[in-house]
Amino acid sequence: MIDEAKVQQAVKLFLEAIGEETKREGLADTPKRISNMCKEIFGGIGKDASEHLRVTFEAEGKGIVMEKEIPFYSVCEHHLVPFFGKAYIAYIPDGRVIGLSKLARAVETYARRPQIQEQLTAQVADAIMENLKPKGVMVMMEAEHLCMSMRGVNKPGTKTMTLVCRGEFEENQALQASFFQMLR
Ligand code: ZN
Repeated sequence: MIDEAKVQQAVKLFLEAIGEETKREGLADTPKRISNMCKEIFGGIGKDASEHLRVTFEAEGKGIVMEKEIPFYSVCEHHLVPFFGKAYIAYIPDGRVIGLSKLARAVETYARRPQIQEQLTAQVADAIMENLKPKGVMVMMEAEHLCMSMRGVNKPGTKTMTLVCRGEFEENQALQASFFQMLR
């Protein structure tokens, strides 16, 4: 649960601390705007994706199921600025599949919190393994981190890639190769 009054207080203090005039027109409602926004962009705190991944369907077939280019937006927990990009999820069903939109929901659940990309990638893979119990999962994420683009090394457009393999994908290089082939 977001404590809206506390967020507003904190934002006001923060603006003062960086030398801003909190009463000027453009900033007067900023604490309120931010506390509202927090309900959405940090709405995943304390949640896990099982509510989205619980409903599965029986299905035959042995192939790989892939969902490509799932957009996501998250916030870097080291700097509290956004990182955003795309997720690629593949799994090998063991008799059951999941609604494709649910994979996007799972990504969203773990993205909407202060996060690091490595952990986000692993949490999505583990949640799919746990709930759907497929033979294997592979999750790749590519994202631009504004803490790298707008400060520090200042390299806009640089992408950070993370990859997590679980189950059969872990040891089977041919399966991993199929994943990358399906990306094209
Ligand atoms: Zn950062």
